[in-house]
Amino acid sequence: MEMSIAAGRLVIACHECDLLHRIHPLRDGERATCSRCGAGLWAKKRDSFEHTILLTVTSLILFVLANVFPFMTFELHGRVQTSHLSTGVVEFFDRGMWELGLLVLAASILFPALKILGMLYVLVPLEMNRRPWKAAPVFRMVAQCQTWAMMDVYLLGVIVAVIKLADLATLVPGVAIYSFGALILTLAAADSTLDPHAVWEKMEDLP
Ligand SMILES: [Zn+2]
Repeated sequence: MEMSIAAGRLVIACHECDLLHRIHPLRDGERATCSRCGAGLWAKKRDSFEHTILLTVTSLILFVLANVFPFMTFELHGRVQTSHLSTGVVEFFDRGMWELGLLVLAASILFPALKILGMLYVLVPLEMNRRPWKAAPVFRMVAQCQTWAMMDVYLLGVIVAVIKLADLATLVPGVAIYSFGALILTLAAADSTLDPHAVWEKMEDLP
């Protein structure tokens, strides 16, 4: 769906039949439908800012827990080894496999951090009716990175490794692995409560 704002009114093209509509800004919970084919143009989500900020702050707390606490404890022949979320990255770099190290670093740490911080950077000031510096490019970046899609692949890899190791060593999941799993869910939920149209609209309204 293409949209732009002209003279305080939204111009939206129907994604089904391409008919252009000029609509007034919607109230929470209101829906706009195409006058030709009846397809939904835009349904404004209720309390989208509050819900998204709350879920993102929760994600930030889970992200910190996932990075600070042990991810997994291995016990093999009486030797106990504790690993953290960053351990895998360090191992790859130590063995010269820097491409894999970078990939894991991006999927498990960098992208989630960028997403969480970018989201808060844009949404919190907007909620207080202030427009943050460079809000548009930051929000475009945030809206484009579907981080949880990469994070669940990472978690799946960990689970497969754990199943393979389970016969050899005693494994105890740490606080971080649960936090990481919950983080995937809260980020996905934040994506679904986020109403990008409402964010663009609010950015345009503020000086
Ligand atoms: Zn239509």
